Amino acid sequence: MGSTRSGAAAAPTDGAAAAAGALRLDSPVERLPRIRATEARLLRKLGIGTVRDLLLHLPFGWETFGGPVPIAELRAGVEATVVGTVTRAYAKRSKFKGRPLTEATVVDDQGGTLQVAWFNQPYLAERLPRGTRVALAGKVTVSRYGRQMRSPHLELLGDQEGPTRVGGLMAKYHATEGLSVRRIAMFVASALPLADGLEDELPEPVRRRHGLPTLAEAVRLAHQLDSEADFERAAQRMAFAELLELQAAFLVGRRRIEAERATAIPYRQDVIDAFKAGLPFELTGAQRRATWDVYKDMRQTVPMNRLLNGDVGSGKTAVAAAAAAMAHAAGLQTVMMAPTEILARQHLEKLRAYLEPSFPDLRVELLISGLPAAERRRVRTAAASAHCAVLVGTHALIEDDVELACLGLAVVDEQHRFGTRQREVLRAKSPDGRPHFLAMTATPIPRTMALALYGEMALSVIDELPPGRTPVETSVVGPEERETAYELVRREVSAGRQVFVICPLIEESVNLQAKAATVEFERLRKEVFPDLRLAMVHGRMKDKDAVMRTFRAGESDLLVATSVVEVGVDVPNATVMMIEGAERFGLAQLHQLRGRVGRGAQRSHCLLLTDEAPPKRLHLVASTTDGFRLAQEDMTLRGMGELMGARQHGISDAAMEGLRQPQLLSEVRQEAEALIAEDPDMSRYPRLWEAAVRRLDQTSIS
Ligand code: ADP
Ligand code: MG
Repeated sequence: MGSTRSGAAAAPTDGAAAAAGALRLDSPVERLPRIRATEARLLRKLGIGTVRDLLLHLPFGWETFGGPVPIAELRAGVEATVVGTVTRAYAKRSKFKGRPLTEATVVDDQGGTLQVAWFNQPYLAERLPRGTRVALAGKVTVSRYGRQMRSPHLELLGDQEGPTRVGGLMAKYHATEGLSVRRIAMFVASALPLADGLEDELPEPVRRRHGLPTLAEAVRLAHQLDSEADFERAAQRMAFAELLELQAAFLVGRRRIEAERATAIPYRQDVIDAFKAGLPFELTGAQRRATWDVYKDMRQTVPMNRLLNGDVGSGKTAVAAAAAAMAHAAGLQTVMMAPTEILARQHLEKLRAYLEPSFPDLRVELLISGLPAAERRRVRTAAASAHCAVLVGTHALIEDDVELACLGLAVVDEQHRFGTRQREVLRAKSPDGRPHFLAMTATPIPRTMALALYGEMALSVIDELPPGRTPVETSVVGPEERETAYELVRREVSAGRQVFVICPLIEESVNLQAKAATVEFERLRKEVFPDLRLAMVHGRMKDKDAVMRTFRAGESDLLVATSVVEVGVDVPNATVMMIEGAERFGLAQLHQLRGRVGRGAQRSHCLLLTDEAPPKRLHLVASTTDGFRLAQEDMTLRGMGELMGARQHGISDAAMEGLRQPQLLSEVRQEAEALIAEDPDMSRYPRLWEAAVRRLDQTSIS
């Protein structure tokens, strides 16, 4: 069957042959037969600029219409295919908004009659003169005018017996106003004969080992499927190839880094001894292991490229400080970049507290855009002259024309919030080779995901919290228990503590989210806590930092916030985290928010409020403090895309599904490693390596 179809497509009539002959994979979409300028523009908007792009733009699913059935047998609601003859067709304007409308009547050999309507295709009637034989596939409705189909798929049959493109299983494409699924399918059909010319980046031996179709086969299977299995087979192959490309990109990224030179930072026992002596606490075992990983990397002339993967509150800053101390002892500077000014200020305080007692000549400075001009000038001069050993800051570090005399170590906190380019600019600030690079996460990342998203980095996991923390008491609060939650808030405030109230997540729009926060703020202020001092912070506000500072200073009791406070703000006096609409958040996100309290000595509370019957997964947050476990659970429940901004990495949804299968992922990784070992100069599988390099240069990995 598949061969019949591709056969039909491959043997076009003479006129079509001339047109198809002119068409090549590199041809711009404007050259597709019968395409209109507006349609070409819409395709380009979808990122489809060439015939190749069109072929590789696979359908996201399929629908089934079955083989042709008599019109008289059609019942309302079924999806079906019919074959018949047009008895009339004409264009008009619809009553609704005056959209162009084509109406037609089709009768079949068994005497059934079907009314058909298409929207936004004003020229269609001209192609359907009385007597035209057509196949239609679509959903049937029945009204007092008889049986109807709206916007069915259409195939003009000519002399053909039955349909070849319409009916049975049909691919589904994302359509837009002015570009219907049917038109896309038609363009694809005229491009399909060129599929054999598609360059397959999947090496032949890998394809064979895993029983996967070639790219051309997969493209044909997906666009013109004969069975559900066809579609699955195609999807599986595409996902595999993408995952392999991603892993290959990591390996290429690793090689690039290995080809670079950094200044080796020798390990010195006296430095670590002094560092430990000056700390207000003992390092945990996990912190010691991570620190040792870092020291071993920094001793090399290959730049370190390490990810510090640890739960909120696990003490990643101390590890970064230990690294900075060692760099300083080797006469090198450290920069540390954080996503917000508040975080940068917190780092400044911590680094000073950890480093200054033992290293009196080690100066830590802050560079953020909010500084007075004179102060900024002073800090920049200090950095350029090596007077400043550790420079902490925000984007200002890279945006400003900051010079560093002798940068040896670059640290990025919450690294997923920065793009490749920003990290690259930071790395490029070393006058001499590359600095060692240490990235830190805000959320613990399950190991498989770390491999999938940060596969080019070495990994240190901090899976142990410092001792002596009182776990945050977490409870799920249903609609009837709201009053008890408010009482707890009042009790804590009268004991001198502070409270966060997080508004429900509205992912679609920052504006809506800001509005919801404002409404909640007004409600709480007027109706619930008129006697308390309330403040508010949301993403649309200019001076978020000022609000946070006053809250931190204890000048307000209760802070109504959107999830912007999620990123590590330290307010030791805050003991209650109340989260409205908790069911809308991911588990890892809830855990992250919860980490904002429980930083001081007092017992803290996290209240997960819901307006519906609370879903089970919320109780999981209440029952565990293990961030890795919650992130893992999120990954299983909601997929990777939701976490860690996997989408930023330019990974398709299909491949994302693949990422959730640890077995597949490890197979793919092994393949990639075997391939680079077998093809070290990257000559045997150039397409794979080229694709990997393209990915590396485009997305935020490495
Ligand atoms: P995160 O990993 O979330 O960045 P921080 O570095 O901010 O964690 O540390 C969280 C808190 O724990 C800080 O107040 C820090 O001083 C404290 N801390 C870090 N390490 C230890 C330790 N080994 N023992 C006790 N407290 C520690
Ligand atoms: Mg931190």
